Amino acid sequence: MNNKKIAEVLYEIAEILEMKNVKFKPWAYRKAAQTIESLNEDVKDILKEGKLEELPGIGESIAKKIRELIETGKLRYYEKLKKGIPVKLAELEKVEGLGPKRIKLLYDKLNIKDLKQLKKAAKKGKIRKIKSLGEKVEKNILEGAEFVKKSGKRFLLGMILGEAEEIKELLRKRKEITKIELAGSLRRMKETIGDLDILAVSKDNKKTMDFFCGMSTVQRVLAKGNTKSSVRLKNDVHVDLRLVNENEFGSALQYFTGSKQHSIELRKIAIGKKMKLSEYGLFKGKKKIAGESEINVYGKLGLQYIEPELRENIGEIEAAKKKKLPKLVKYGDVKGDLHMHTNWSDGRNTIKEMVEQTKRLGNKFIAITDHAGDLKIAGALSDKQILKQMKEVNKISDGVKVFYGLEVNIKKNGDLDVGDSILKKVDVVIASIHSGFRQSRDLLTKRILKAMDNKYVKIIAHPTGRILLGRRGYELNFNKIFKKAMDNGVALEVNAFPARLDLDYLNVKNAVENKVKISIGTDAHNIDQLKFLKLGTSVARRGWAEKKDIINCFSIGKLTKFFER
Ligand SMILES: [Zn+2]
Ligand SMILES: [Zn+2]
Repeated sequence: MNNKKIAEVLYEIAEILEMKNVKFKPWAYRKAAQTIESLNEDVKDILKEGKLEELPGIGESIAKKIRELIETGKLRYYEKLKKGIPVKLAELEKVEGLGPKRIKLLYDKLNIKDLKQLKKAAKKGKIRKIKSLGEKVEKNILEGAEFVKKSGKRFLLGMILGEAEEIKELLRKRKEITKIELAGSLRRMKETIGDLDILAVSKDNKKTMDFFCGMSTVQRVLAKGNTKSSVRLKNDVHVDLRLVNENEFGSALQYFTGSKQHSIELRKIAIGKKMKLSEYGLFKGKKKIAGESEINVYGKLGLQYIEPELRENIGEIEAAKKKKLPKLVKYGDVKGDLHMHTNWSDGRNTIKEMVEQTKRLGNKFIAITDHAGDLKIAGALSDKQILKQMKEVNKISDGVKVFYGLEVNIKKNGDLDVGDSILKKVDVVIASIHSGFRQSRDLLTKRILKAMDNKYVKIIAHPTGRILLGRRGYELNFNKIFKKAMDNGVALEVNAFPARLDLDYLNVKNAVENKVKISIGTDAHNIDQLKFLKLGTSVARRGWAEKKDIINCFSIGKLTKFFER
């Protein structure tokens, strides 16, 4: 039972409870699952240290269940729940458009238990006959089902980025290796990753492959060769290491970074110039004209260099032709984190510990934004506690600027669950939706618009509520939201928590085109999670954001003014 598997069980419990219309508990299980999923340490070690209950979102009852899972490999509560729901929930949940309620409906009406039966029913036109679903939903379900089959097993970027960088570092330090880079979708910082590709140049291939296959994190060697080896890591991630010639490193890196669509377009451009582009280089007739570096490959094709995060074939090639690519925000430009929780609400660490870690990471400011109002399950602060915490935060003068903020819940009617008399005393108010996700697009949009009309609200957090590999986000009328955000000077958040990355990059691109400001927040619930700022920045980069678009890149003075507006 590794962290990922335990998290999967907890997610599934949440889904089953949701199907049964149980209140609050699904939320608690999902929260616990997110915590386990994002841990650096093995949860087994935490259990051994007796510190399970110190983790955010893990109370006595869930801790007991995790213990049972680790010690026996099973969980009686879960087995019993599953018996009550005779469908393959985890499998069906992966289909876009299928939530617990629809799955229950499909089971009740058509006895659909798994993906295979779902596809069969959709193809036969049975789903459209259910009154509340209809033809369009049926079509979406079928498309979604096909997608699940194709996409297979994926991992959250945030869950493997650290280990990927560690492996790169281990290899980089070896004397025989002269060049090394992570490739694939990880280099493009895609939200979820299928497997890991590493590219290197070595003076001694055998020595490098021996080392790679013998790393302590390897679970199994799948193939070992002189130029390519594949291993499965203990966390189930599949890694390929390819060793290439020095003069092919750039073209190979371009080739193995993708995306596929982006590379296809590049090859077309090459053909148009009577050239040929492959992983071995860019050729004009027999003559190789580029290959050792990516910059040269792009240059010889008449393009500006395109950063990996942009290579999704969404307009970057046209922009590179015209030399009009954005001046992407750099990872080092983001100087502070504007969303986090402490042990005042459902976080693990104290305010002071969060500040200390911020200093260690070299950041200049943070906003402490604990839950406030009615969200009792997240340990939301009462008015009295807010005033007390505010005093505490305002006392800090420690090289790091600490804004005092709150994460306030947007109620089902769009009201906030903390009064204006409190909000006006706070540096920054974040508003977000934590319940009622299944309202219509129209109602959800109205809720957010109304929250943005509160003059104290400065950021809308995790705007679509999506959970990667879990729950798809709700639909919103973004045209209206962008307009309101512009008019009222409200920023939209890129929530950098690995399972959220919400807004996604396409919405960021749209937001930025509409001159809406972006705020990056880790939503950290402990000090380890503050490092997710990089993930948030990657989404901003994938969404073509520049420094000027991101309020975390503002000076403290300018940011203070933005909050005061
Ligand atoms: Zn939240
Ligand atoms: Zn939060």
